Amino acid sequence: MSGSPGDAAALEILRRTFGYEAFRGPQAAIVAHLAGGGDAQVLMPTGGGKSLCFQIPAMLRPGTGIVVSPLIALMQDQVDALRELGVRAAFLNSSLSGRQAAAVERALLAGELDLLYVAPERLLTPRCLELLERVPLALFAIDEAHCVSQWGHDFRPEYLQLTVLHERWPDVPRVALTATADALTRREIVERLALQSAREFVSSFDRPNIRYRIVEKLDARRQLLAFIRDGHAGEAGIVYCASRAKVDETAQWLSDQGVPALPYHAGMDAATRSAHQSRFLREDGLVMVATIAFGMGIDKPDVRFVAHLDMPKSVEGYYQETGRAGRDGEPAEAWMAYGLADVVQQRRLIEQSEADEAYKRVSTGKLDAMLGLAETIDCRRVRLLAYFGEASTSCGNCDNCLEPPQPWDATEAARKLLSCIYRVRQAAGFGFGAQHIIAVLRGQASARVRQYGHESLSTFGIGADLSEAEWRAVLRQLIAQDLVAVDHARHQVLVLTEASREVLRGARTIGMRRPAAVVKSRPGRGARGGLRGATTPGSPAPDGAERPDAEAARLFERLREWRRAAASERGVPPYVIFHDATLRAIAERRPASLEALGTIGGIGAKKLEAHGEALIALILSQAGGAGETGSAAHDAMEEAQ
Ligand code: ADP
Ligand code: ZN
Repeated sequence: MSGSPGDAAALEILRRTFGYEAFRGPQAAIVAHLAGGGDAQVLMPTGGGKSLCFQIPAMLRPGTGIVVSPLIALMQDQVDALRELGVRAAFLNSSLSGRQAAAVERALLAGELDLLYVAPERLLTPRCLELLERVPLALFAIDEAHCVSQWGHDFRPEYLQLTVLHERWPDVPRVALTATADALTRREIVERLALQSAREFVSSFDRPNIRYRIVEKLDARRQLLAFIRDGHAGEAGIVYCASRAKVDETAQWLSDQGVPALPYHAGMDAATRSAHQSRFLREDGLVMVATIAFGMGIDKPDVRFVAHLDMPKSVEGYYQETGRAGRDGEPAEAWMAYGLADVVQQRRLIEQSEADEAYKRVSTGKLDAMLGLAETIDCRRVRLLAYFGEASTSCGNCDNCLEPPQPWDATEAARKLLSCIYRVRQAAGFGFGAQHIIAVLRGQASARVRQYGHESLSTFGIGADLSEAEWRAVLRQLIAQDLVAVDHARHQVLVLTEASREVLRGARTIGMRRPAAVVKSRPGRGARGGLRGATTPGSPAPDGAERPDAEAARLFERLREWRRAAASERGVPPYVIFHDATLRAIAERRPASLEALGTIGGIGAKKLEAHGEALIALILSQAGGAGETGSAAHDAMEEAQ
């Protein structure tokens, strides 16, 4: 597989055009397979580097590579990014005027395009198919291939008709790409796109640069604010909320607190929505507060965090949403605040839905897996990957690995709570909600407790050792484990389940995470000792080297300013000019010559030519203080003469 002339040519393009040193994971094999004319199915997580897998073969093979993508809003940026690299690319979709489209068609017919991005509905028109008949085609790349799945929420009916490509062009290689991992979707892609003979490339779905954190929800908004201020000030992020109203409120509140934030949900008019999306893509450091309507195809590479104020319904959803963080491979965080109300709410949604029993069973199974992930005291990543069938070992980059929670034998607490639910119902002849049960447990003779005479029950006051918040945490975990149910039809009354009996009988022990956070640390005051340093595991500070660090940070900020200006001058998002990772590497290494600059990841020949001089000038202008760079600057000046 290695050493063929094609491989050498692919590597040359990777280095020269894209500015990257080596292929990642299966990229090299995929490129070789497609370049050799084979079909492929590529399953790779977000940020894994799917684009290069079809871009490079399209450049290697004669003819134009056709990229089918449903993400019209992104085509412009994708094509701009390619052009900045010197790749001959264009797109055809409904956003173009007739004249613009005609120009693209002429370029295609003249053999001037390596890559053409087309929306599926456009591609399937007779006119477009006939146009493609007239030119040599390098390959078809079907991006976001999970859109063929009728069960997924991104279903696009036009995707079902893409088999026409195979029928009309049996000899043109096709590649289907997706970040959706599950086996069912995978099978659907193969069947519906007639890819039976395609080679399958499956990558690990791990996103090692994403740090997972799930905290107990106390005062969610304040916790969110602390999370952003302590670890992500000035950075781009997405905050997911379950409802439109909450999106609006939260965006407003964050803005009032000085965090630039915009709302996004399906209830807003299309123009405002797309204006917000484009600001999020183009401006540095904006926070998007959104429902899950905001999602697919947000391939902004420098989203530094994804926060959930409400729990997703499934692990798939959680993985997909959190996966929008850190596409550029730089450290990023997935943070979620989760509490009793989330569990109750999600269970209720399923129970009260109109769907049939089979569907409810599936939904309950998915929710249980999500709850398991939220409640686990073991490595979150191990749990997450296991859900997708991937085995792994403790990651060292999730909250449970970093600050292992105390496992707690909660059998006794659970039995107290369960027997209290039982006694109260027995005494009154009907059930009660969480607040009442906890009051009885804690021995609080509230008016309501006295009204029903519950202060004389044997369970009155047996749980005085735990605070109300702690009991809520215990209850949450019991509901999550289906040891207590909530009767939504009757005022959220707590009821025992089949499984509760085993616990009451003493036949089952209950382990859970000790709900300690509640009393010990109020939200906001970083009891865990500042996130800042902790969010950049990838860049260890050289010991004692305060100053170079501060200087690199200063240079990084200046580079970002420069990038902002360069981007707006060219009318593209900043990351199309350079990714953060590239700027950071420049700030750390301070290359003082064009040659040295060219060795930095993400700087290919075209970008070196376009921006090299400006960057060197900027680096040298800040070189004054640093001795080492000072002399490097001197050398560079001499070299330049
Ligand atoms: P995906 O489409 O799988 O989400 P992309 O194709 O957008 O991922 O790539 C994610 C990021 O990784 C991009 O910033 C891309 O430039 C970078 N990248 C891809 N391949 C490589 C590589 N071989 N070396 C370095 N960076 C890479
Ligand atoms: Zn872990």
